[in-house]
Amino acid sequence: MEMNNADDQINLTVIGSGDAFGSGGRLNTCFHVQYSGGQFLIDCGATSLSGLKQHGFKIAGIDVILITHFHGDHYGGLPYFLLDYSRQKDAKPLTIVSPPGCKERVQGMLDLLYPGSLQIDQLSVHFIEYQPSEVITTKELIVQTYPMIHVEAALPNALRINVGNKIISFSGDTEWTPNLIELAKDADLFICQCNYYKKEGKGHLNYQTLLAYLPQLTHKRIWLTHFDTEMLENLENIDLEYAVDGKRISI
Ligand SMILES: [Zn+2]
Repeated sequence: MEMNNADDQINLTVIGSGDAFGSGGRLNTCFHVQYSGGQFLIDCGATSLSGLKQHGFKIAGIDVILITHFHGDHYGGLPYFLLDYSRQKDAKPLTIVSPPGCKERVQGMLDLLYPGSLQIDQLSVHFIEYQPSEVITTKELIVQTYPMIHVEAALPNALRINVGNKIISFSGDTEWTPNLIELAKDADLFICQCNYYKKEGKGHLNYQTLLAYLPQLTHKRIWLTHFDTEMLENLENIDLEYAVDGKRISI
């Protein structure tokens, strides 16, 4: 019998689809995914805690946070998230998956922002560190990482996430690299950073470049994200779907 089992449904909500500069008032990068096994975040930019609460998501219900790279608009929300997490009585154990060094960086931020307030070691938070081109498994997710081309010191990666029987791929921040072809392959949803319309900028894709390579990408669906002001001014010229804060999709 053909039945769409609600238990298998995966719901993705865009918490933040903006760039590092708050262009257009959009929040920093963060996607919330709910599936039968739990809830996870893809990136946790500086504004994520407020964004999650705007949509009624409970911090205690999130069990995995995946981080693509160490830029504030992608992981700067972790100190605020953990501070709030530490106040939740019913919080589930939390796993944070990232390039190496996340715990030290976030503890450093906590020490600067809220001195003396929180030691991550006292929380039930488990860190998993990945290398580029590695496969990481959490309890329910299988995550393949791909090295990307962005500020090298930020350890930029893309993530291809197997959740249930679906694939969500996210580029993180990058300029064009053939790794995007593998990343997007057969993905049920490929979220691709497209910072500029035609401006050339180091470490980011523009729309014209993406269009030129589009025939090589075999995702089932693509959403562009991470728009600067030039991209926002050209929204009527964009023929692909794109993320907007608060947008939801079931896959
Ligand atoms: Zn970014």
